[in-house]
Formats: sequence, structure tokens, C-alpha cells
Amino acid sequence: MEAYSLNRSVPLLAEADIVVIGGGPAGIAASIAAARCGKKVIVAEHSGQLGGMGTLANVSVFMPVGNVTGIYREIVEETLPESLPDSHDTSIAPQYNPFLLRHYFNEKLEKENVKVLFHTTFISAVKERDRVTAVIVHTREGLFALKAAVFIDGSGDGAVAIDAGADYTTGREEDGLTQPMTLMFMMQNTGKPVQRSLPEGCYTYSSVEELPQGRHLYWERNSDGTMLVNMTRVKGNGSKVEEVSFAEKESLRQALSVADYLQRNGFETYTLSHIPGQIGVRETNQIVGRYTLTEQDIVEGRRFADVVAQTNYEIDIHSPDGKRGTDERRVDGYDIPYRCMIPAKVEGLLVAGRSISATHVAMSSMRVQATCFALGQAAGIAASLSIDTHCPLPEVSMTELHRELGKQGVRLLKEDEPVASK
Ligand SMILES: Cc1cc2nc3c(=O)[nH]c(=O)nc-3n(C[C@H](O)[C@H](O)[C@H](O)COP(=O)(O)OP(=O)(O)OC[C@H]3O[C@@H](n4cnc5c(N)ncnc54)[C@H](O)[C@@H]3O)c2cc1C
Repeated sequence: MEAYSLNRSVPLLAEADIVVIGGGPAGIAASIAAARCGKKVIVAEHSGQLGGMGTLANVSVFMPVGNVTGIYREIVEETLPESLPDSHDTSIAPQYNPFLLRHYFNEKLEKENVKVLFHTTFISAVKERDRVTAVIVHTREGLFALKAAVFIDGSGDGAVAIDAGADYTTGREEDGLTQPMTLMFMMQNTGKPVQRSLPEGCYTYSSVEELPQGRHLYWERNSDGTMLVNMTRVKGNGSKVEEVSFAEKESLRQALSVADYLQRNGFETYTLSHIPGQIGVRETNQIVGRYTLTEQDIVEGRRFADVVAQTNYEIDIHSPDGKRGTDERRVDGYDIPYRCMIPAKVEGLLVAGRSISATHVAMSSMRVQATCFALGQAAGIAASLSIDTHCPLPEVSMTELHRELGKQGVRLLKEDEPVASK
């Protein structure tokens, strides 16, 4: 490939104790947790909103994890109080309004004194030896540097870690294929028959088998007549420029076509009411960390001394090879260790959220939002402890980390307490 070298000096825009890249579930919780430890925190977010896939891609449901705790519990309490379970070890799967959640996150981070820079995209990591000391970001005013003592990669793609030289894997071990992407959209019951329109280039689906996922998957909310639809599917890796560019166009064709299909099959009074500005990306890269979570760990329900998150969300693999099936397998509950967030070869950086060190199958279970909030919260505290105690991230005391998690409202179930059944 022809290459160009870019050698220019970039002004320092700001300095913080901790810079978080990505304002999705992991980045949000990381920034709140670190700010609560008294740290100055900046979040650099590529888009114009907080919430990651949960709002940007209209995901709009918190899948059940069996341990509703910490910042995730607080979010449910403050935005969906009717769904808040009495105890932590209960499973809930509430649907939420992504527009209201987006506003809530803006307000929440402001109250927590976290500075958010929107339309600010991580470009490159600056290192001294193996340590990340600054990141170069692209903003509406051009390129700048952000400096910090510790960085947290919440980009979902492991973008910072990979640029900094961390090893990573992508998709299935045998062929590198990732879970497909989905454009989730909403329909609204108007109470009267609606005019259908199927633009040129779209498809006329005539049976369930012909639909992109070969199934119906939607959530109707009777209280306000909205319906959330998860029925498109495009094969590809969302971190590859050509594949995501194709997927954006193909998923829109599918969304318009599925809406038309539903309007012909029982939803004659529903109009298309919201299509988000970008496709949902389930899986891209996993860093190689100090520990890699495996299928065996989650099937056997392994517990770890350095546990930072717990979940019993199922193995949930939308077919990566373009087929219509979904591999769904029950899981009884397991721990995720802190070491999955520490890239093996890079210092001064933690990776939180869906791109932690995990195999393709393990990732399919740990990827849901509540788990990403839990990982982010632990990363924010660990980063803060490493600054306070002047110790490298891998050496952060687990006793201190667990104590601070407890102070921040996290209840980790003990080894003899099963993670709640669904
Ligand atoms: C179609 C679909 C359906 C799903 N359904 C559910 C569900 O029902 N329930 C559930 O709980 N979970 C669901 N998930 C999974 C869940 O939404 C994600 O796994 C979760 O949001 C991951 O959180 P994260 O913080 O790791 O990353 P993300 O949510 O991906 O957030 C990453 C953030 O980083 C930003 N970013 C990326 N690159 C850069 C960069 N270079 N510089 C700056 N910012 C950057 C992005 O804009 C984004 O805001 C679904 C996912 C998809 C795609």
C-alpha cells in the first residue's frame, strides 16, 4: 500500500488525570467512577452524543445480567425507577427511550464534573517507551493532543490499544468473521392504516424465512404505541471502512423493506418513526490482555479473585457468515477478571467495554450494556487508584479496588452466591 508520512506538531488542547476515549456505556461509567474518586476526567467522543450503541444505534433495551449493581443500577433507578429490582441479584430487561437516555447522560456527566468533548475522534497514541502519555484527536478545530496520567479505551474497537501496539484478535478464531451489524429502527402505531412506500432498491419480503434474520424480533410498547425493531442484518466487520460503508447502505435498504413487510403483516397502522444515524456494530476487535475470557470460563461459571463484573447473559451469536440463525445458549453466571482490561504490551491504558480480552464466544455474552457499565466503573476506579498509589495498572491492589467498588455501590456476589437465574 502506498503510504505518506505525517510529521507535524500538534497543540495540547487539555490535560487531565484520566482521559477516556469513547462515551458509550463503558466510557460513561469509567468517567463517572474516576470523577467520584476525585479525578479530573475528559471524555473524547467521536459522535455528538453519549450512550454508544445504546443511543447512537438505537439499541434501547438493557439485556439481563443477573447482577443489577453499581452505576448501572443507579442509571436504572434514575431513569426507569419502575424497573428497579429490590435486590442486586435479580434479572431485568427494561426497554428505554434512547432520546431521553441521551439527555440524561449529558446532564449526569455535567453533574459529575466530567468534561465531554463531542465530535472529537481518537487518531493516534503518543508513547514514551511502552507507556501512552498523550492521544492525538481530531476535532472540529483540527488536530489536538490530550494529555493524561492514565487513558481508558472505551471505543468499542480497542482503537487506542491497537494504535498503541497492543495485540488483538478479530471475530471467530477459525476465520476472523465477526457478528453481523444491525440497523435498529422504530415504528409508531398511529391508530389508522398508513400509506406504505417501498423505495427503489429495496426488497419485497414475502415470508418470515426471507427476512434478513429469518425471524421476527421486535419489542412493542403498549403504553405509547412504539415498536423497536431488530430485524436487519448485514455481514461484515464494523471496524473495516469498506465493510461498514456497504453495511450502512444495505441496512437502510433492509430497514425500509422490513418496515414495508411489517405493514403488510399485522402492523398496518404503524409508521416508520425513527432510523438512527448509524448502524449498530456488535463485534470488532478484542485486545489481547493479561487474561482472556473463554467460552469454558463462562460455561463453567468460573469465579476469579480479581472479579470486576458479573453476568449471566446468554451466549448470543448472530450468525457471522451471512446465514439467518442465531446461536443462543443459556449461561448460569460467571465473573470477569480485571486482567481482561489490561493490554498485555501497553502501559498507562485500560480497555473497558466490549473490546476487552475475550474469545469470540465469550464476547457474545459479555458485550451487553450492563456488563460494559460494570467494566467501565471498575476501570475508572482502577485508573484512579494507580494514580493515587503511584503503581502500574497491573499492580493495583484488588483489596482497594473491591473496597472502592463497594463504596460506589457495587455489590459483587460471593463465590457461594449464584448469579441470579433469568
Ligand atoms: C444491533 C445491536 C443490538 C444490541 N442489543 C442489545 C440489547 O438489546 N441490550 C444490551 O444491553 N446490549 C445490546 N447490544 C450490545 C451493546 O449495545 C454494546 O455491546 C455496548 O453498547 C458496548 O458498549 P461499549 O461502551 O463497549 O461500546 P459502544 O457502545 O460501541 O460505544 C463506543 C463509543 O466510542 C465512540 N468511539 C468509537 N471510536 C472512537 C474514536 N476513535 N474516538 C472517539 N470516540 C470513539 C463511539 O462513537 C461510541 O460512542 C446490542 C448491540 C448491537 C449493535
